[in-house]
Amino acid sequence: MKTFVMREIGTVGMMDKPEPRPGPNDAIVRTTAALICTSDSHTVAGGIGPRTDLTLGHEAVGVVSEVGSAVEVMRPGDRVLIGAITPDWGDPAAQGGHASQSGGPLGGWKFSNTKDGVFGEYFHVNDADANMAKIPDDVPDEMAVYCADMLSTGFMGAEHGNIPIGGTVAVLAQGPVGLMATAGAKLRGAGLVIGVDSVPNRQELARSYGADEIVDFTTEDVVDRVMELTGGEGVDTAIEALGADVTFQTAVKITKPGGTISVIGYFGEGEFVHIPRVEWGVGMADKTIATGLCPGGRLRMDRLLRVLETKRLDPTPMTTHTFPFDQMERAFEVADQKLDDVIKVLITF
Ligand SMILES: [Zn+2]
Repeated sequence: MKTFVMREIGTVGMMDKPEPRPGPNDAIVRTTAALICTSDSHTVAGGIGPRTDLTLGHEAVGVVSEVGSAVEVMRPGDRVLIGAITPDWGDPAAQGGHASQSGGPLGGWKFSNTKDGVFGEYFHVNDADANMAKIPDDVPDEMAVYCADMLSTGFMGAEHGNIPIGGTVAVLAQGPVGLMATAGAKLRGAGLVIGVDSVPNRQELARSYGADEIVDFTTEDVVDRVMELTGGEGVDTAIEALGADVTFQTAVKITKPGGTISVIGYFGEGEFVHIPRVEWGVGMADKTIATGLCPGGRLRMDRLLRVLETKRLDPTPMTTHTFPFDQMERAFEVADQKLDDVIKVLITF
């Protein structure tokens, strides 16, 4: 079968591989649609260390082609969403409510990390009954695929942010995950959502997903402007959706005492992330810093799909580019180099 791989740090390309086989609890899925993620670029750049001929990709939907002997819920022919994060549900971390950390820190992140990812004609899913969800008939593939990571991670930012109904929220960066955090903040009942970004098409989408105010960090000071918009108080919740030291520091500064800094960015560079001491209340301002990795699991995916089925949200306007799988190299270049105002690149199979 055809796959798209990271050959080594900094190099990608197409590669033929044998079709995967299922163990007793596993499934094999025939890929129908996938999305390229910024994490794929981080991986190719060496963010998780060296890899050889690793199939990339972790956001996909497909049709079950084969299941192992112990799989009971999922059947061949089912149209399914597969979580980007596929935890081992028997692991104590999962039993403790932290399934994404099963098997060690970030251990639920297997696709394109510790095993081949989803950019292939077929891929393997561990713990199939727990890590896939059947897609409702009226939710198309190109919409459902956003639940694998973008909705799950973005909404997690709002969930971990402990947003009071009517509370104030700033979402720092309006990439696809930030946009879904903005949508999540609105769904969680925020009274004021401030979106921070400089790119016009991202600003426009942020407004459509619920941002009441837009702050452009290239033309105004984000801390000053957020303070002004919140009557000098700061926000209840700041969601860091970029993964940069400076943005994290801004998030701490603009969060009011007692508020929450919810981190959903991928911090791919540098040895340390710095906490601004004074605005942190010299360690005593009751500011909570929450972190997490995209939650997985069938229960959560069923909920995310319901949000789409009942039309609370349409993520498809984030799809700025679509390529067939045989043009994967060009597709990756567009996403990786952020060409042509790209937000999200959809791959069809
Ligand atoms: Zn992703």
